[in-house]
Amino acid sequence: MTHPLPLARPAGLVDQFGRVARDLRVSVTDRCNLRCTYCMPAEGLPWLPKAEMLTDDELLRVIGVFVRDGVTQVRLTGGEPLLRRSIVELVAGIAALTPRPRIAMTTNGVGLARVAQGLADAGLDRVNVSLDTIDAETFTRLTRRDRIDDVEAGLKAAADAGLTPVKVNAVAMRGVNDEAVADLLGWCLDRGYELRFIEQMPLDAQHAWDRRDMVTAEEIQARLSERYTLTPLPAADRGSAPAERFLVDDGPGTVGIIASVTAPFCAACDRTRLTADGQVRNCLFSRTETDLRTPLRAGASDEQLRDLVRGEMWRKRRGHGIGDPDFVQPDRPMSAIGG
Ligand code: SAM
Repeated sequence: MTHPLPLARPAGLVDQFGRVARDLRVSVTDRCNLRCTYCMPAEGLPWLPKAEMLTDDELLRVIGVFVRDGVTQVRLTGGEPLLRRSIVELVAGIAALTPRPRIAMTTNGVGLARVAQGLADAGLDRVNVSLDTIDAETFTRLTRRDRIDDVEAGLKAAADAGLTPVKVNAVAMRGVNDEAVADLLGWCLDRGYELRFIEQMPLDAQHAWDRRDMVTAEEIQARLSERYTLTPLPAADRGSAPAERFLVDDGPGTVGIIASVTAPFCAACDRTRLTADGQVRNCLFSRTETDLRTPLRAGASDEQLRDLVRGEMWRKRRGHGIGDPDFVQPDRPMSAIGG
C-alpha cells in the first residue's frame, strides 16, 4: 500500500502531531509457552508460518533502518521472545548496529534462568518480566501452566546477570488477582524488583474485554494504599514513559501504574512496532499496517524501506480511540503485535 507524503513532511520518524518515534518494539515470534486467559485461548492460536516470518538477517536489516532514522531503544517481545531459538544472536546483532540502541526485552520469564547471562553478555540492557500473581495456584489458573517457579528463577537470574533494574509487569483482573495487588508489591519490594501495573486493554484474541470489568488505575492505587503510603514522583521524571510512579513508604522502592485506558499517554507516545512477519504498526490499536517483508524480499533498498516506515509513522492517529463510539479492536491480538 503506498500513500503520497506531503512535501512539507519533516525527515525522520515523525507524525502529523509532532511526535517522534524513538522506541521500537519488535515481536520476534507470535508463539507463547503460556496461555494467559486474558490473552489467548487454551488451544493457542494459528501461529505464523515460518516462511512468513522475518529471518534474523531480515530483522537486523529492518531494525538497522529504524535506528539510523532515530530509534534509540529496541524492545524485543512477542509472543514469548525467548522461544526464538536465535534470541541471543539476535541481541548480539542489534548491539552491533550503529548507532547502538539500548536493548530491552519483555518476557514471561519462564525460560529466562537458562539464558539471562547469555543475553546480558550479548548486549541486552534491561528486562521486564510479566508476572500477575505470586500465588502459585492463581498463576496456574491464569496462565494455564504450572511454571511459577521458573519465572521466579528467571527473575533472580536476570538480577544476578545485571539486567537491572529488573521490572515486573502485571495486569490486575477483577476476581482473579485484584485483591492481592499489595502482596505482589510486597514480594517485589523484598527482592528489589520494580513493579508496574497496567490497565487491561482490548487486545485479547477472544475479543472478550469489557470496560466495565476492567480494574482501573485508580482502583489499583486505592488497593495499594490500604497497605502502603504512595507518594507520587514528579511528572517531570516521567518523560514519554507511560507509568505514573510512586515512592512506596519512605522508599527506595517504587511502583508504577499505567492508566493506558482511563488516562492514555498517546500525546507523549514515542513508540512504533514491527511484527514478526515484517509489518510496521504505528500504534498497538492500529487497524492498518505497512508491509516491509514483500518489498524487502523483492530487493528494496534501505532508503525505500525507510520511506515506507516514515510513511507509516506519518499516518499515526492522535490517540488510540478506546472509548470512542467507533472504536474497533484490531484484528491482530496482543500476542501477534508484541506487547
Ligand atoms: N510473552 C511476553 C510476556 O509475557 O511479557 C511478551 C508478550 S506479552 C503479550 C506482553 C505483555 O502484555 C504482558 O505483560 C502481558 O501481561 C500484557 N498483556 C497481554 N494482554 C494484555 C491486555 N489485553 N491488556 C494489557 N496488557 C496485556
